[in-house]
Amino acid sequence: MDNKKASRNKFFKRIKKSDPKNLDTVIHQLHDEAFKKINCLDCANCCKTVGPLWTKRDRQRVSKHLGYEVLDFEKSYLKIDEEGDYVLQQLPCPFLIEDNKCGIYAVRPSACADYPHTSRPKQKQILQLTEFNSNICPAVESIVESMEIIYLKNSKRRLRI
Ligand code: SF4
Ligand code: SF4
Repeated sequence: MDNKKASRNKFFKRIKKSDPKNLDTVIHQLHDEAFKKINCLDCANCCKTVGPLWTKRDRQRVSKHLGYEVLDFEKSYLKIDEEGDYVLQQLPCPFLIEDNKCGIYAVRPSACADYPHTSRPKQKQILQLTEFNSNICPAVESIVESMEIIYLKNSKRRLRI
């Protein structure tokens, strides 16, 4: 683990332990700020490097949209990983088209619509995922950098009391 990753890992361990009550409010606000500055169409790193998990409803919706039988769609594009989840056979995602656009945007998997998951409730439950995503998504990287400043400042204030 490089120095930055190790120090970030330490930070996430501290946050999990201290369990700040305002975590959702802080992360949601930083999420809004980050996406005012970052345009996904300049990036698409999530579509290029991780891809979503595909729920049954995702598989049904997308195969219908593309005119496939669900089984044929699964055989053509997906595989089951070691945890039993449906994931893409290949990356970058085959539905990523020119200019970093999603070719199935209107019916894309729910995990794609929710990515990078920093606007959903109960952020404490997904801190490990947020730590992982800080290495993938520049918006999450920016959110986490700001969290480090906010919570480090707060912990120093507590130390002075
Ligand atoms: S990695 Fe983050 S910033 Fe990049 S396209 Fe995905 S959600 Fe948008
Ligand atoms: S389905 Fe669309 S949003 Fe999801 S990974 Fe593929 S290109 Fe990206």
